[in-house]
Amino acid sequence: MRPPMDRPANSSVQFGDGTEAHLRSILATVPDAMVVIDDVGTILSFSAAAEKMFGYAESEVVGENVSMLMPSPDRERHDGYLEHYRTTGQRKIIGIGRVTTARHRNGHTFPIELSIGEAWLGEKRIFTGFIHDITQRQTDQLRLKGLQSDLAHVGRVSEMGTLASSLAHELNQPLTAIANYCETLRDLLASTPDEETLAVVREALDDAAGQAVRAGQIVRRLRDFVSRGELERRTESLHRLVTEANALALVGSHEYGIEVHVELDARADGVFVDRIQIQQVLVNLIRNAIDAMMDGPVRSLTIRTRSESSHFMLVSVEDSGSGISKSIAAQLFQPFITTKTTGMGIGLSICRTIVEAHGGRIWFEPAVNGGTVFHFTLPTAEI
Ligand code: ADP
Repeated sequence: MRPPMDRPANSSVQFGDGTEAHLRSILATVPDAMVVIDDVGTILSFSAAAEKMFGYAESEVVGENVSMLMPSPDRERHDGYLEHYRTTGQRKIIGIGRVTTARHRNGHTFPIELSIGEAWLGEKRIFTGFIHDITQRQTDQLRLKGLQSDLAHVGRVSEMGTLASSLAHELNQPLTAIANYCETLRDLLASTPDEETLAVVREALDDAAGQAVRAGQIVRRLRDFVSRGELERRTESLHRLVTEANALALVGSHEYGIEVHVELDARADGVFVDRIQIQQVLVNLIRNAIDAMMDGPVRSLTIRTRSESSHFMLVSVEDSGSGISKSIAAQLFQPFITTKTTGMGIGLSICRTIVEAHGGRIWFEPAVNGGTVFHFTLPTAEI
C-alpha cells in the first residue's frame, strides 16, 4: 500500500484487495458523514454524505489535512492532538465521541456529534470519523451522550414560559397589596395626621414591607429552581465545556449564517465548576448574542478564554449585535428586565446567580465593533 501523500489528490484510497470495495459500499450508504484519515490527519476518503454536509467534493479534500473541516482553535491544534495520541496513546475522543463544531466550505460553523473509531490496516493506522449534523435537531429530541442532564436543565428553563403565567399571578398579589397600602397611606397623610392615624400608618407600612419581602421570596424561589441550589463542582476542561455549550447554543441557528470564532487559551484549561450550570451560563450568553445579531448585516460571535490570574479564568462572549439598550443597561442583571416580546428577562439574572455562587464575577462592556462583550470569571482547578 502506498502512503497517502504519494497518491494524486483526486484518486480514491487503495486499501488492498476487497477492502476498498467493501469500504466504498459502506461509504455510499452510511447516512452520517464519514471521513477516514491516516494517523497524521490526511484525508483518505470522504463519503457522499460528507460531501453534502461540508460542501466539498471528495476529490477536493482527499490528500488534504482534515483540520480544514474544523473551525479555530481545533483547526490549528488538530495536528498536535494527533501527535499527542501517537506518542501517549491517551484517548480523549476516540471511542468516546463528543459534541463539537465543524466548518463548512463557506466558512460557517455548525454543531455536530462526532464519533471516532480507530483501525489498523496492516501496518497502517486509520481513524474513521462519523459526523452527525445536529443543527436541525429539535432540542427536545436531542439525545446526546453525556449531555442529557444538561439538556434536561435547558428544558427546565424552557418550562419557564409556562411558569411565567403562574408566576405573574403569584407576584400580582403582593404587588397589588403594596399598591393598595401606598394609596391608603397617601390618603391618610393628606392632612396632618394625629397620633392614632400615625399608628395606622406605621402598621400599614409594616404590612407593605412584609408584602415586598414576599414578592422577593417568590423571585428567589424561581432563581433557585433554575440554578438547582447545590453546586456539584469538579475539575473540568474549560475547552470542552465551551465547545459543547457552543454546539448546543447553535442548534437551530444554521440558517442565520453566524460566523463563530473560538479562541481558547492553550496554556490554561482546568476550572473547578459545576459543568451543567456553567454551560447554562454560556448557552444563555450565546443565545442572547445570537438574538442581538438577528437584525444586523454582520453576525460574528467570538468566544474567548484566558487565564486572568493564578486563581481565575476569564471567559468572554462577544457579538457584533445591536449593543445593550441604554434604557436597561443599569439593571441588566436584575430579574424581569427584557426588551424582547417573548423574553422573560431572567437569563442574565440566573447567569449572575450561578457565576457568583462559583465565586466569580460577571459584567459587560461595549465591544469595539458596536456589539457587546459579556465577561465572567471562573475559579481555576487547583493542581
Ligand atoms: P431575555 O433574553 O429573556 O430578555 P436576559 O436576562 O437574558 O433575558 O436578557 C435581558 C435583556 O438584556 C435582553 O432582553 C436584551 O435586551 C439585553 N441583552 C442581553 N444580552 C444582550 C446582547 N448580547 N446584546 C444586546 N442586548 C442584550
